[in-house]
Amino acid sequence: MNTAEKTIYKPIYTSTKKYKMFINNEWVDSASKETIQSINPYTGEVWAEIPSGNKSDIDIAVAAAKKAFSEGEWPKLTGSQRGDLLRRLGDLIKQNAEKLAVTEVVDNGKVINEMLGQLKALPGWCYYYAGFADKIHGETIPVEVPNMINYTVREPLGVIGAIVPWNSPLLLTLWKLSPALATGNTMVIKPSEITSASTLELAELIKEAGFPPGVVNIVTGYGKTAGESLARHPDVRKIAFTGSTETGKQIIRNSADHFARVSLELGGKSPNIIFEDADIKNSVNGVLAGVFAATGQTCMAGSRVFIHESIYQEFVEKLIKRTRTIRLGNPLDPTTEMGTIAFEGQCTKVLNYIELGKREGAKLLLGGKRPSDSELAKGLFIEPTIFGDVRNEMRIAQEEIFGPVVCLIPFTDEEEVVKLANDTMYGLAAAVWTKDVQRSHRVASKIEAGTVWINNYRKVSFSSPYGGYKASGIGRENGSEVIHEYTQVKSVWVDMGNEITDPFKIL
Ligand code: NAD
Repeated sequence: MNTAEKTIYKPIYTSTKKYKMFINNEWVDSASKETIQSINPYTGEVWAEIPSGNKSDIDIAVAAAKKAFSEGEWPKLTGSQRGDLLRRLGDLIKQNAEKLAVTEVVDNGKVINEMLGQLKALPGWCYYYAGFADKIHGETIPVEVPNMINYTVREPLGVIGAIVPWNSPLLLTLWKLSPALATGNTMVIKPSEITSASTLELAELIKEAGFPPGVVNIVTGYGKTAGESLARHPDVRKIAFTGSTETGKQIIRNSADHFARVSLELGGKSPNIIFEDADIKNSVNGVLAGVFAATGQTCMAGSRVFIHESIYQEFVEKLIKRTRTIRLGNPLDPTTEMGTIAFEGQCTKVLNYIELGKREGAKLLLGGKRPSDSELAKGLFIEPTIFGDVRNEMRIAQEEIFGPVVCLIPFTDEEEVVKLANDTMYGLAAAVWTKDVQRSHRVASKIEAGTVWINNYRKVSFSSPYGGYKASGIGRENGSEVIHEYTQVKSVWVDMGNEITDPFKIL
């Protein structure tokens, strides 16, 4: 590592930053003037204040987005002009990647390497979907009716409501914004109340890129007020949601009255399967990447690790040895490997699950508490925690903990492990570690999950669809699939002749 890489990044603001919301390309307070404090989970200090928006703010933002969809400059732009705007936004994110990443670290305590990596990759989403903006078209369809031409056009939906969680705020926003804008929709974004700052920083760039007023609006606030009002709003044509499975259910119920489409990216309890012929070093690494790399605060966390009984002891020893060396510390220090839990409530939830694991009879092999090190005292740290001899039916193996806690479960054969892996309400992701190429594909085909990694973990790309089976979600993000999620099809019939047909006959 060179000297530059060792530099500890500094927070952008030295005194409490007071943010405003972004509606119609203008900076506004919430109608109530109430605010929410953003707390840095490493220092425990309030570092920012964001407006606490509610129904009236959502109403104003949705009206602005609705107007921008059908009037003014936006609907007149060609696909390539929309693509140009997205490309410009990508360039601006690239130029501001460090500032945005530091903002996210200060807000949610994930490490700078993780967030900087995300921010450097995010322009890719803008460029990829910019490429689609001028290639969205229908088709001409042969029909069994003489003298008729039938063609389809693919049209945007209208106002999209995007609701985003706190663990990767800008990544999960850009996964929605890039395809939504490429296809000509307008948006109201509701970031998490825990981590709204980076989305409001992004708004500066959206304006600078040249998006017309009302195309993107950001209303900050709590889920129960701002989020629910957005999901219930009759002028919102689709809710693109990432968050917990429980909130996902409420989103479906609340958007049902006005038949809004929904795409839901929800929770997970992903199986990470280590067969007896796996490369041990790589698979240990894969377990770390799966569950400790982002302090376990990732939907795709490989939180259930199934290990073949013949290598169980050896694998566990190696995993413990490597996990002991994980460096906890200042999330803005690039040498830190694991940061904090994002906020107090989440920290309590994780610690409660650890206590539950002990009561359920799982063997606590490592961690399980807040670290005693005085340097870490102020931060919301939890030691990387390993439970051994877990049974798949235990609650710690069935419920999403969303923290640095891994369950190790021994298995005897392929058939058994596939059954156990699928014995969960979730189906977001999975991994299979083996050198047997036939077995790897066979197991991948039997796993009920939207993503399966073979001999790797936690890889995503703008070009590969991502989403969940079962209670992990509805719909997909990323890849060309998404174009259909943000558009609807109109079928147009053209009569080329002048024949008078029987008015009482459809076919
Ligand atoms: P959450 O469901 O509590 O909140 C997510 C967002 O929804 C926040 O903006 C919140 O304010 C809002 N919200 C809360 N209640 C609402 C309501 N009734 N109506 C409308 N909006 C409401 O989730 P979280 O704790 O912020 O995030 C963690 C969860 O997100 C985990 O379950 C994780 O697995 C999931 N997640 C999934 C993916 C994925 O791609 N599948 C990615 C990241 C996180």
